[in-house]
Amino acid sequence: MRVGILALQGDVREHAAAIHRLGAEPVEIRTPDAIDHLDALVLPGGESTTISLLLDRSGLRARLAAWVSAGRPTLGTCAGLVLLADEVLDGRPDQRSIGGLPIAVRRNGFGRQRYSFEAEVQSSDGGEPFEAVFIRAPRIERVLDGTTVLAELVIDGSPEPVVVESGHCIGCSFHPELAGDDRLHRRLLELAETTTAV
Ligand code: GLN
Repeated sequence: MRVGILALQGDVREHAAAIHRLGAEPVEIRTPDAIDHLDALVLPGGESTTISLLLDRSGLRARLAAWVSAGRPTLGTCAGLVLLADEVLDGRPDQRSIGGLPIAVRRNGFGRQRYSFEAEVQSSDGGEPFEAVFIRAPRIERVLDGTTVLAELVIDGSPEPVVVESGHCIGCSFHPELAGDDRLHRRLLELAETTTAV
């Protein structure tokens, strides 16, 4: 199984290691043609404004948008979640997301007090909590129908979604790859097994 990792900017290496641990082949994606013959795709964290700019410069935007709208398996973490959100609040005016997840996220939405932090996040399937690393993370503010919440963070006593799935897209506001927790990458590979390659 070949899993592309968008490698224009951001933490590519840790995602490649996770894919490798699961027995799949990580492929770094920098050009439009590199998207051919993939089974799944990871959009890593980084800076969504920079990634948005580089998607235009590299010519990758249209191919990526076609990939996501065709329902191909995609995991977006942190800045990658911003790219997958249908609605972005507090984005820079010149940044554009790809869309795919029917959610609204607020960029850097945890504010200055929670600029970067680690927290235990409850998995909705009742499994082990995630040891989640948040770095200037986007905050999921609205989740529309048809979206499943896979994990929640309790803030000031109220739970809010931090991992969501809809169609063949998974979005995560923290960095699972930094904690060496491969569950979301494994879920991505499961989604890939149920779809046919391009
Ligand atoms: N704040 C960044 C953005 O809006 C995301 C940070 C990250 O990916 N760790 O793109």
